[in-house]
Amino acid sequence: MKLVVLSGKGGVGKSMLTSALAMLFAETKRIVAVDCDADAPNLAIWLGGIKKWDRTLPVIASAKPEINQQKCDLCGLCVKNCRFESLSINNQQLTINNFLCEGCGACEVICPQKAIKLKPVQNGQIKIKKTKHGFILVSGNLFPGETGSGKVITEIKKKAEKFKHEIILIDSAPGTGCPVIAALQDANFAILITEPTPSAFSDLKRVLKVVNHFKLSWGLVINKWDINSQLSDKIEKWAGRKFLGKPSTTFPKGMVLGKISYDKKIFKAISNLIPILETNLEAKREIKRIYSNLNSYIRKNS
Ligand code: SF4
Ligand code: SF4
Repeated sequence: MKLVVLSGKGGVGKSMLTSALAMLFAETKRIVAVDCDADAPNLAIWLGGIKKWDRTLPVIASAKPEINQQKCDLCGLCVKNCRFESLSINNQQLTINNFLCEGCGACEVICPQKAIKLKPVQNGQIKIKKTKHGFILVSGNLFPGETGSGKVITEIKKKAEKFKHEIILIDSAPGTGCPVIAALQDANFAILITEPTPSAFSDLKRVLKVVNHFKLSWGLVINKWDINSQLSDKIEKWAGRKFLGKPSTTFPKGMVLGKISYDKKIFKAISNLIPILETNLEAKREIKRIYSNLNSYIRKNS
């Protein structure tokens, strides 16, 4: 079973929740935790930090043009047609700005002299660690200035699937772009997390559209619910009214899995690299209740 933790907005508690759920699942099941936020992976930190990874593997999932200056007659056709303005002619030479290039390949196709060829490049890496909590963590990152975060995520997931598991628990990137879509491919259940702020609520609705595209059942967690209990109630009712009461084939079932209170001590714990489950905070008990609700759902549906 593949479970994906998503939020729409960043910074609402995705990695905190994923890390705690991973540790709870690992008590009874063989799990693999996967950090699919290739632009800012931080699941390892929430698990207590990792000093040395067991393995680091290259990801070659992007391509950049290589220019044959001998063949190029400086006609400028590729410069005119590069939508990302990554090509220019300076001092009688065609040059490329790799930070702007998206590797789309238009220049290769358009060049009448066949002076451009796309060459594969390493755009990221995968990191693997057997954590002190007894499960494998597969993480990875996109290199600065590189493109293809969705492709890097796909490679990270492929690697994670090679390890024996009953559950793969994925910490997705925020937003609704390629990395999120790649994280949701082949998923069985989405765990949405939000906080009671207008921007987080708005982003939650946006990411739910992506979840609905994949026709996935989902559960909602409201983090820091008590910073705005009125909006929190509204989000809960919205989730319940919209999906709980009326399960249909268009919108698969949703449920409220639970709420987590705001507590400054959570930040203190993480800055000391102490996982939430190793604290005595209220958040730990609340996450255990969320886990228990999630587990009941899994038992009924697997
Ligand atoms: S289209 Fe080809 S020949 Fe023309 S400038 Fe570009 S690389 Fe050179
Ligand atoms: S691959 Fe695409 S983005 Fe990169 S230089 Fe060529 S046309 Fe521009």
